[in-house]
Amino acid sequence: MLFQNIIGQNELKERLISLVKENRLPHATLLWGNEGCGKLALAIALAQYLLCSTRAANDACGQCLSCKQIQKLIHPDLHFVFPIVKNSTEPICDDFMEEWRDMVLTSPYFSYQQWMNKIGDGKQGLIYAKESEEIIRKLSFKGFQGEHKVMIIWLPEKMNAVCANKLLKLLEEPPEKTYFILVSEQPEMLLSTITSRTQMIHVPAIAYTDMLAATNESIARVANGNYIKAMQMQQPSAVNKEYFDWYRNLMLAVVRPHAVLDLKAWSEMLNEQGREEIKNFLSYAQHLTRECFILQLGHPELNYLEMHEQEFASKFARFLGVQNIEFIIETFTKAYNDVEQNGNGKIVLFDMGLQLKTKIR
Ligand SMILES: [Zn+2]
Repeated sequence: MLFQNIIGQNELKERLISLVKENRLPHATLLWGNEGCGKLALAIALAQYLLCSTRAANDACGQCLSCKQIQKLIHPDLHFVFPIVKNSTEPICDDFMEEWRDMVLTSPYFSYQQWMNKIGDGKQGLIYAKESEEIIRKLSFKGFQGEHKVMIIWLPEKMNAVCANKLLKLLEEPPEKTYFILVSEQPEMLLSTITSRTQMIHVPAIAYTDMLAATNESIARVANGNYIKAMQMQQPSAVNKEYFDWYRNLMLAVVRPHAVLDLKAWSEMLNEQGREEIKNFLSYAQHLTRECFILQLGHPELNYLEMHEQEFASKFARFLGVQNIEFIIETFTKAYNDVEQNGNGKIVLFDMGLQLKTKIR
C-alpha cells in the first residue's frame, strides 16, 4: 500500500512520513477514526514506508523486496492482529491469514461487519487470549529482513482482557526495534493504560473534495467521508444490474393483475440460478424495497440507489407505504429462510410472489 493510493488525508500522510523521516515515530501509534476514513490503509502504508529499503521523500519505492512482499502481505517482519471468530477451541489470526490477505488486497477499505461476513457468517469477532502468545512469539525474533518489525493491530478494542493485559506489558517494555500501529474505531473502549502508552493520531473523515475526486457528486454527498459506504454505493454493478432486472420483473408480475403465469415463469427462472444466488437476490430485494420506501417517504438524500435503479424506484415507490412495507420485507425474509432450509426453490419463490400480490397493488 503506497501513500499515493490512499484517498485524501494528505495532511496526515505528510505528518506520518515526516515522523519516519525524522526518526520520531513512537514505538506505539494509535490511528483512530470512524469507519471508512482509511485508517487501516494508512497503517499499512506507514508500515511499508518504514520497512522500504529505498524510500523516497514522500512514499515507499514500491519496487524493493520489502515493498513487493508488503504488497502481497507476506513480509516476514510485518505482522497483523485482527478480530477472528471461534471456529476451533483456540483460534489465532494465522488461521485466518488467507482470508485476511484476500480481504485487504481486494481493498483495505472494509468494515468490521464485512470482515465478519467473510469469515464468520456474521458472528461476533474477538482477539482471543491465545493471540497474546503469538504476538510475543512473533516479536521475539530479530527482524528477518531489516532491523525493524511492525505489528498492526486492527480493532484492538475487540481484544479479550487477557490479551489486552499482555499487550499492555509489551507496550510498557517494547521489544527492540518494534513498532506497534493500533487501528481503532472505538479508542474509548481500550484500557486507558494502553492508550496512554501510544501516540494517538486522529484520522478524520475523508474530505468532500477528495471523495468527489474518487467517486462522483451524488455518492460523495451521501457517503459523508466514509469510503466504505461510497464503495457500496458504487459497486457491484454487473451483479447488481442482474438482481435489479430480476427484481423489476418480479414486481411487474406482482402488480399486474393477470400475470400469474409470468410469476410462475419468473420463479422457475430464478430457481435455476441456485440456492446461493437466490439468497443473494433476496437480500438485495430487501435492500431495494427499503430504498424505494425511503424514496416514498420523501428523503432522497437518505437513498443509496444506483443510477439504473433510480428511475424504476421513483415509479415503484408509490406501491409502498406503512401499510405493507413490513409485510413485504418479512415475506422476503421468510423466503430467504425457507430457501436456506432447503425448501423447494420453485415453490418458495412462487408462493412468495403470490403473497406479495396480496399486499402490493
Ligand atoms: Zn521499497
